[in-house]
Amino acid sequence: MSGIIEKLAGTGDLTDGELASLIGTDEHDGELYKTADEARRSVYGTDVYIRGLIEFTNYCKNNCYYCGIRRGNEKASRYRLTAGQIFSCADTGYELGFRTFVLQGGEDPHYTDEMICEIVSGIKRRHADCAVTLSFGEKSEESFRAYWSAGADRYLLRHETADPAHYRMLHPASMSLEDRKQCLWNLKKIGYQVGSGFMVGSPYQTVANIIADLRFLQELRPAMIGIGPYISHKDTPFRDFASGTVELTLRLVSVLRLMHPYALIPATTALGTIAPDGRERGLKAGANVVMPNLSPTSVRKYYLLYDNKICTGDEAAECRHCLDARVALAGYGIVVARGDVKTREAKKVAV
Ligand code: SF4
Repeated sequence: MSGIIEKLAGTGDLTDGELASLIGTDEHDGELYKTADEARRSVYGTDVYIRGLIEFTNYCKNNCYYCGIRRGNEKASRYRLTAGQIFSCADTGYELGFRTFVLQGGEDPHYTDEMICEIVSGIKRRHADCAVTLSFGEKSEESFRAYWSAGADRYLLRHETADPAHYRMLHPASMSLEDRKQCLWNLKKIGYQVGSGFMVGSPYQTVANIIADLRFLQELRPAMIGIGPYISHKDTPFRDFASGTVELTLRLVSVLRLMHPYALIPATTALGTIAPDGRERGLKAGANVVMPNLSPTSVRKYYLLYDNKICTGDEAAECRHCLDARVALAGYGIVVARGDVKTREAKKVAV
């Protein structure tokens, strides 16, 4: 094993210089993926957890320059799901073996805290053995506490970039990296299993930015880490920027797996969008989660954060069966389970 990968696998860390050289070359890719896969197998075996994604609103009050559902995109066809429609998605998902539902949306003031709490507690009442993950942006600590009291288990909030100057280039002045980070710390304090992550290959991103992202994740120690390639959307100010690459994304999935052996790391839809076998390759590089879509097919084509998104036409059952086959072919197996994060402490007790 090359010294640099051995050090990363053994200590979970590298110097900035070592990270820059590992990220900057494809020389070690095969060995890096293999070592990361061994690390995931030592904690999670070949299990792959599935999350049923319910994209309940594509309205957003924000205007992130990279996002297809940003407020300023007048070409986006907007929709909102009712509580009843969301429950129906969850019921379908439950029948298909999903035990985690992810409520994802833009920052949409239409949904009051009361409405969100009713939706969360409604899902929990119907499916008590399921986890509910929320993912609809920045909220006050008070709101996060209300959702937690209603039964929410996890929250996904990507920091997107941990470098303040880079953050400014991707977001309008109304948003700040400090606010984003504060939300993540608040979520951790409340007790959520927290997910964060960043875009790979976003406009203006440098290797130093990526290292800052890795350092921030080491500090935050999230339960879930989602990274995906930046993919440009034709109706955004960033329409002319090139998308991120599969290679760099996979390399970073492996680095993250070796830094965070216990984390839940998805093989993202964005990865599957830029390469037909992107999600399978993500699993082989250390990922252990996939998040198929449970949103009604009638609205799926409108939740487009980026162009050419896959699986916008398939029924939920088709998605599930397609994924079963893909995951099995890659050498892993989907399990019917909530798929909570494992911890080093729990493993010691089990041993
Ligand atoms: S990235 Fe999120 S917060 Fe930003 S515009 Fe898109 S949905 Fe809204």
